[in-house]
Amino acid sequence: MNIPSLTISSVRKGLTDRTFSAVELAQEALAFAKAENPKTNAYLTFSDERALAAARAVDAKLAAGEDPGVLAGVPVGVKDVISTRGVRTTCGSKLLEHYIPPYDATAIERLEAAGGVMIGKANCDEFAMGSSNENSAYGPVRNPVALDRVPGGSSGGSAAVVAQGTAVVSLGSDTGGSIRQPASFCGCVGVTPTYGRVSRYGLVAFASSLDHIGPFSRTVADSATLLTAIAGRDSRDATSALHEVQDYAAAMQQPLQGLKIGLPKEYFAGLANETGDRIQAGIEVLKKQGCEIVDVSLPHTEYAIEAYYIICTAEVSANLSRFDGVRFTTRSAKAETLIDMYKNSRGEGFGAEAKRRIMLGAYVLSHGYYDAYYIKAQRVRSLITRDFAQAFEKVDALITPVSPFPAFKLGEKVNDPLQMYLSDIYTITGSLAGIPCMNVPCGTTAEGLPVGMQILTKHFSEDLMFRIAHQYEMSGGFSA
Ligand code: GLN
Repeated sequence: MNIPSLTISSVRKGLTDRTFSAVELAQEALAFAKAENPKTNAYLTFSDERALAAARAVDAKLAAGEDPGVLAGVPVGVKDVISTRGVRTTCGSKLLEHYIPPYDATAIERLEAAGGVMIGKANCDEFAMGSSNENSAYGPVRNPVALDRVPGGSSGGSAAVVAQGTAVVSLGSDTGGSIRQPASFCGCVGVTPTYGRVSRYGLVAFASSLDHIGPFSRTVADSATLLTAIAGRDSRDATSALHEVQDYAAAMQQPLQGLKIGLPKEYFAGLANETGDRIQAGIEVLKKQGCEIVDVSLPHTEYAIEAYYIICTAEVSANLSRFDGVRFTTRSAKAETLIDMYKNSRGEGFGAEAKRRIMLGAYVLSHGYYDAYYIKAQRVRSLITRDFAQAFEKVDALITPVSPFPAFKLGEKVNDPLQMYLSDIYTITGSLAGIPCMNVPCGTTAEGLPVGMQILTKHFSEDLMFRIAHQYEMSGGFSA
């Protein structure tokens, strides 16, 4: 079995043709992932028992002639910020080294109900804060395309397992770019759905108003199928949307003739480099498909990074207060008083980036600064959302780069948080607006490093986004 070449539909074919059983596939996928993992450190935990139980359920359904689900037998990697019952969930943090959730995230329940087989938990930046996966307490992930480089972050492990071929698809989370940016660095598809499209129940919160769960895959079709399986209203997450879930895979088949695609000028200024050239080549592919390319402007883009780092730090300082040494986490052995116990547990357990953001967040929310920073950032967020709404009055979709540069070397930016924050300059706006956006590969640099192109559409227009991505893939765009 050639695990790295599998897709959701080839797994299905293998199962129905009886080339392999779901249990055989799970065993082989686990053995392959374990053998490959030392190269990248992409998995933190393997969930053999759970994978085999899920695979046995798929085999039983097939034997009984029942529908085994759209993800039947598919080996899946899951970012370690998504809660999995009985399977350790560390969030990349030392504090949660021994945390075993008593329940599953809704996305995991749905994944397994559709026949998906979770084989392990993927490494990530601590509590999903970072752009290089170097903030994990369990060591960085190496990019499978170039092992001396970062895979991007924070869902670096989820991108790496798909690029390395040790999972067919994976789940990540995106708050400001953490699905799209690592997908672009590793050369795979990564999708951030509309805010509320996938339930956040069981996703350990970073910045609740920005957090999304979404898929990684090697083909557009596989992300579309995975998203269809996990999306939809969930009564356990009040921000999950009531909109009906579309059949994205069916919507993808329509050609692109006549679509209007906008290029926001703010995203292309200063992009006279190889990344810019690859995106231009991607745009040419869309033109050949009959798309009309239009220049547009998103005038408040320049304030996005500042607004994002105020809003997300404010939210994270509140969300991380639950990790207090009493619940969930390991407890400092050193404390004599209750206050010391809180302080020492948090002080010893959180890494530098988490501490930096907790302090920034406490500051922007404190009396006297709340209006000056937090409220102002929320106003900017509204303006950015309005920019997108106005652009979508003129065009059907937007194309932008995902990252200003390809995967950088391990250690290159780790001591410069501001440089690191700039990695997300093109992805943060879509997150603030809560619109669907995704990465599709668009060729490589002369050095062979993947470059990614971002497709953005209106709220709940995932169908159109997948259609553009799929038609682009079919016309050779991935190697444009
Ligand atoms: N890199 C961004 C940050 O550090 C985005 C993270 C994310 O999307 N989870 O906040």
